[in-house]
Amino acid sequence: MKTPGNNNWYTDAADYWASVDSTVNGMLGGFEQVSEPDCRDSLKFIQSFIAAPDAPVAPAAKGPPTITPGLACDCGAGIGRVSKHFLLRVFDRVDLVEQNAQFLETARTSYMGQDLQRVEQFIPIGLQDFTPEHQRYDLIWCQWVLGHLTDEDLVKFFKRCKDGIKPGGLIGVKENVTKGGVIVDDEDSSVTRSDYILKQIFEQAGLKLLKEATQTDFPAGLFTVKMYMLKPIQS
Ligand code: SAH
Repeated sequence: MKTPGNNNWYTDAADYWASVDSTVNGMLGGFEQVSEPDCRDSLKFIQSFIAAPDAPVAPAAKGPPTITPGLACDCGAGIGRVSKHFLLRVFDRVDLVEQNAQFLETARTSYMGQDLQRVEQFIPIGLQDFTPEHQRYDLIWCQWVLGHLTDEDLVKFFKRCKDGIKPGGLIGVKENVTKGGVIVDDEDSSVTRSDYILKQIFEQAGLKLLKEATQTDFPAGLFTVKMYMLKPIQS
């Protein structure tokens, strides 16, 4: 069994993804049908964090913090499924960060279609090496990708994300979770963490959990999928 972070951890993952089709079905490991409920629940999850267009500039004293739906960063974007069917339904613009250049090429040349004009940047890099521009994003969203990072790299990545969001910006995470402990996938070189372990990592990175929710309406037999909304702990 592999150990997260061994010598070939990241290159093995890259090799695995290089063998996957540039399609929604490829992005979802053959479970194309989960895309619709996935995006539906994500839209519902984020709703309470989006400022109404006519909201006063000063944040309300009560209720969750809200963000302006300007620019979002889609981390581990693949061909842009999450951007097209979730983020761009809420945000004006997105950047796509993805280690596989072929997936980004598919996003650019076909998959994004009409929404292409609202993609600001295609960033072909692994998240372990990605440093967002200082205070660039209203939201950084990471979905079905963080298992590819070792714990150490994930903590460091989140710390860089804290610098990459605007003041008041948020970080969203949507990942599979185990019932306890980690499960290593030798084939795609990833780990599935438990809810508890993910929360420990959030804490280590100095992130405060604002809201969590569990994905509904997925086929039986798949991992539980959880959504988390995070903000930097005020220092
Ligand atoms: N988030 C997309 C894609 C999920 S598939 C969606 O939900 O549709 C997982 C994606 O993570 C693949 O595109 C894969 O190439 C990418 N990936 C794997 N390891 C990565 C890493 N270290 N950094 C960035 N992206 C990575």
